[in-house]
Amino acid sequence: MIIGRFGEIHLKGSNRGLFLRALRENLRNKLKADPKTAEAKVLLEDARILVRDYPAAAENAVKDAVKSTFGIVSLSVATEIKPATRENIEKYVAALKISGSFRATVNRADKNFSPNSNEFAKILGGIVLDNNKGATVNLTAPETTLFVEIRAESAFVYFEEERAVGGLPVGTAGRAICLLSGGIDSPVAGYLAAKRGLSVDFIHFASPPYTSPEALEKVKNLRDIVSRYCGRARLFVVPFTKIQQEIHSKCADEFMITLMRRFMIKIAEKVGLEIKADCIITGENLAQVASQTIQGIASNNFCAEKLPILRPLITFDKQEIIAIAKRIGSFEESIKPFIDCCTVFVPTHPAIKPKLNKVIAEEAKLDFDALIAEAISGMQTY
Ligand code: ATP
Ligand code: MG
Repeated sequence: MIIGRFGEIHLKGSNRGLFLRALRENLRNKLKADPKTAEAKVLLEDARILVRDYPAAAENAVKDAVKSTFGIVSLSVATEIKPATRENIEKYVAALKISGSFRATVNRADKNFSPNSNEFAKILGGIVLDNNKGATVNLTAPETTLFVEIRAESAFVYFEEERAVGGLPVGTAGRAICLLSGGIDSPVAGYLAAKRGLSVDFIHFASPPYTSPEALEKVKNLRDIVSRYCGRARLFVVPFTKIQQEIHSKCADEFMITLMRRFMIKIAEKVGLEIKADCIITGENLAQVASQTIQGIASNNFCAEKLPILRPLITFDKQEIIAIAKRIGSFEESIKPFIDCCTVFVPTHPAIKPKLNKVIAEEAKLDFDALIAEAISGMQTY
């Protein structure tokens, strides 16, 4: 079995039940979606979550699922001993192979169990010493700690506690629509948004034939990778070629990227409102590229009228973003070299500090609303 522990959920006071049920459902759905782990049972127990009854061969898959579920801070793979009699526990401990320094720590949820925790820890320590030549006791800095938890119906025995992703259960903070490019940043932004409890769907702007079917495959793969953490997520793909061609032919070159970004945000807001999103997420990062100066960001910020734009990466260093991308497994996919719509028609000298009034004047040369309506009508949902 696996024991998962919570972090911040403990702070949630009267809402705690809501957070815990969301966490249980998220983990259940994730385990059910994979035939290997589908049999696993997920239970809430007071201060933690228990996963049981999966085939031994599925242990790593179950462990990965628990580890990547937001809301869980640590986990232990444990053996359950049933019934929790002194004899059963001693027999199990006698068969353990332990070398080097160790300590035994006993915890009784069932205070009727005798002997008491300290005494029983000493007894179990003695049993380990008797059965393992290389073992020595070290109470302060042991290499191995043998944890024994005694409850009314059964006892749990385990060794280590491993770190899990932490965060808050997906869905407890509302819904987001995340602008997903094929780059390094936006999958990380989506991941971080989900980590704080947002349920995330993705929107991508594709410009065929300038962008290839392979580029779209890459975006779908990125969605799948982030979905391991944020749960099943939709991907909306919006045709963007016509908008880019219109901007290119009618507006000053230097505003190409700024105007594109405004269209993206406006479309994301419209689609977001339809799917009842509470906010828009982007992977923008201050001063990373010419279009991400604070003036560049401001020029698209005011374009969304009803939904706030959150930018989880705004103050990160590129190396910090890359470290997260590597950890969550999106980096290798992100660096595959396919052309993104942003690289089509890029001007040689983009406006680094675009003035909003000038941007709006350029935009007025286009039929903004009609172009947006047309793009949304061609949207595909995956
Ligand atoms: P990323 O690594 O996420 O592509 P970036 O550093 O390359 O980011 P830009 O290309 O300037 O930055 O894009 C800024 C943000 O705009 C992206 O993080 C993403 O949220 C959004 N974006 C850019 N291009 C697209 C696209 N084709 N479809 C959807 N969103 C996009
Ligand atoms: Mg990009």
